[in-house]
Amino acid sequence: MNSVQAPAVALREGRFPDHPTIVVTGTGVHYEGGHRDDQVDPDFQVLRERWGGPGDGLPLYGEFDPDVQWEAADRLLCAYCLNRPDRAPGEGLLWLLRTDVDQHRWPADIETTTPPICDPHARLALKRCATLRRGYLAVRVREVEPVGVLGTVFTGGGPNGPDELVRFTETDRLPYVLARYLVLELRGAEPDPALHPDLLVETP
Ligand SMILES: [Zn+2]
Repeated sequence: MNSVQAPAVALREGRFPDHPTIVVTGTGVHYEGGHRDDQVDPDFQVLRERWGGPGDGLPLYGEFDPDVQWEAADRLLCAYCLNRPDRAPGEGLLWLLRTDVDQHRWPADIETTTPPICDPHARLALKRCATLRRGYLAVRVREVEPVGVLGTVFTGGGPNGPDELVRFTETDRLPYVLARYLVLELRGAEPDPALHPDLLVETP
């Protein structure tokens, strides 16, 4: 797969976290040289990690660019083309998810940072990506909601690494997270009849 055909959401070489020093106070984290209230995301009231560097380097498959992931997950855009996926009336949005789990009960509630995908790009991804074919779910979802972030939590002497899940309901921890990715909950996900691997549909 060349870089033109890589998913838009793929992290590119040359991108990196690029922001002022983090200051931890009794009310949360903020960037040095400003006020938290002016710096938090207006929709989710979390401090987002700022990234810099050009977006045209070689794609790093399997890793998401934080800026692109956030926009695609928030606006439910295709992870490949950043367009709004077409779907038939009454049909849920499509997700392709890597998984090692070969048993799911359907319908399933699934938390993920993966944005949705349009039909043509789901087929392209499955055709081209052997890693994906080795273990994936293809599900349709009618109800999806942002439920939290993955990020670095600055409490208890932290930072504790960039991949802690903090839910929007955790009002005590939320002010202390530097958010990298938006986490979606896919509610009532059902296997897609055309794209889901047969073996996985058969499980109870
Ligand atoms: Zn697409």
